Amino acid sequence: MKKVIIIGGGTGGISTAAKLKRERSSWDITIIEPSSFHYYRPLWTLVGAGLTNKEETKKKMEDLIPDGIN
Ligand SMILES: Cc1cc2nc3c(=O)[nH]c(=O)nc-3n(C[C@H](O)[C@H](O)[C@H](O)COP(=O)(O)OP(=O)(O)OC[C@H]3O[C@@H](n4cnc5c(N)ncnc54)[C@H](O)[C@@H]3O)c2cc1C
Repeated sequence: MKKVIIIGGGTGGISTAAKLKRERSSWDITIIEPSSFHYYRPLWTLVGAGLTNKEETKKKMEDLIPDGIN
């Protein structure tokens, strides 16, 4: 079993962790992420246009980390 530590649980970190877990399910994968919340930035374009509000772009980080990832 290999151990992988990913620094940063943004778009890149979470995508990489999810892909590795799918392809190497026995690996022990940990994400180190200081923020409790993730903001979905593509939607900020619509926030700027006044079509939605910033709260709509805010998600709890723990809800986005795939199952089986530390
Ligand atoms: C207004 C706007 C609109 C956008 N629209 C689009 C779009 O339509 N399509 C598209 O593909 N992209 C879009 N993007 C770009 C997209 O959001 C970024 O390219 C993407 O989030 C980058 O991913 P990342 O993982 O490199 O960085 P991030 O998603 O920023 O993740 C980095 C993570 O590292 C963490 N971190 C920072 N310092 C440390 C540390 N010292 N130790 C541990 N963790 C740390 C941060 O808390 C963060 O969670 C948009 C961006 C903006 C601002």
